[in-house]
Amino acid sequence: MVKEIMTSTQAIDKIDPLDMTTILATIEEQYGPICDHCLGRLVAKRSFGLSNDERGRAIRTYAALKNDTPYEGSPKNCWICGDLFDTIDEWAEKICHALENIECHTFLMGSRTPPLMNEAEEMLWTDFELYSPEPIKSEINREFGKAVSKRTDLIVEFKEPDVVVLVDLDMDEIDVQIRSLFLAGWYLKLERGIPQTHWHCRSCQGEGCTACNGTGKQYADSVEELIGASILAMTKGSHVTLHGAGREDIDARMLGTGRPFILEIHNPLIRSVELQEIEKSVNEADKRVQITRLSWSRRSEVEILKNHKGHKRYRILVDIDGVVSKEELQRSLNKLQNATIHQRTPERVSHRRADKVRKRAVLEMSLLGEKEHMFEISVLGEAGLYIKELISGDNGRTSPSLSELLEKQAQVTELDVVYVEGIESISH
Ligand SMILES: [Zn+2]
Ligand SMILES: [Zn+2]
Repeated sequence: MVKEIMTSTQAIDKIDPLDMTTILATIEEQYGPICDHCLGRLVAKRSFGLSNDERGRAIRTYAALKNDTPYEGSPKNCWICGDLFDTIDEWAEKICHALENIECHTFLMGSRTPPLMNEAEEMLWTDFELYSPEPIKSEINREFGKAVSKRTDLIVEFKEPDVVVLVDLDMDEIDVQIRSLFLAGWYLKLERGIPQTHWHCRSCQGEGCTACNGTGKQYADSVEELIGASILAMTKGSHVTLHGAGREDIDARMLGTGRPFILEIHNPLIRSVELQEIEKSVNEADKRVQITRLSWSRRSEVEILKNHKGHKRYRILVDIDGVVSKEELQRSLNKLQNATIHQRTPERVSHRRADKVRKRAVLEMSLLGEKEHMFEISVLGEAGLYIKELISGDNGRTSPSLSELLEKQAQVTELDVVYVEGIESISH
């Protein structure tokens, strides 16, 4: 005990202890009682290895010795915190209760303090020209955090905590924010007519109407929902958001090696799920959408994925008006290979994209064969190349095009994406 007080007094020796005892006396006389925590916090940044209540106790002990008055300990009814620090255990219990059904290993404490509490301590900082205090919010976060750690095996983490616990002392509420899980992988869409993400019904904007049978959806399913359903069941999350490296048209399949995606799982109550189990359960749940090569990802990788401009390979089925020989077609395809295509925003997307002319390269163009009087063609294009318009010409908005070169109208009747250049750092 003696040793503890000795160390404490030595530590505050750097500021004149006499000043602090005078300040303590003035506060108690003119403002009101002040607890050890709030007293110690006034000089918090001047000594290390002590807690604020130890600092406060040291000042109070020193004052008692100096004035030859009895030492009475930390007083009740602190005019700054209202004895908040006596309720740490109660709050820690409440926080643990709030975290009960949430799987988490790391956490971060945050708090909202009543404005009057902040104003009270700031008044002291100004009135006594204190230059090394600590705000009460910091001490609350630290002390509450320590109390929660003691009761659980949770570790405080500042960078990417599993949960952020926000204590609102004013409203007497606890809010727990659960960090999303990010799952990276590649998806295949084996059937046409499925959009990548959920679309609200055009008639009711998601409210539910007769046009959508009350579902609020324009399409019954989406890649997002088909992947998300099993994962939500496994993680007990609230909902998912699919971030794709680009998107194929609704009527196009996504085949071959698949398209890179990151799935954000919001508010998961369970975090420890095996990737193999996820893959298995998603792929068995609905054969139309399959996922492969999963890995855990993070929020910062979503932007990288979305900005990624990868080449894409397509397999298309082309219908040409009139008679065209294989040789004639081959000559036109040769002209398009390595050509730079000028594409004015296609009519079909002009309502949601700015009207401008883009230049995109065709890297490879080859004839695969004939199928039901139509031609099967493989195209490798730069990111952003519109394939349907490369063939049709889009009424002259895309040039050169296959229609333009053949001087015959050509149309894509089927389109599959078979390869999307990926990002090694995200999925491997
Ligand atoms: Zn206090
Ligand atoms: Zn509707």
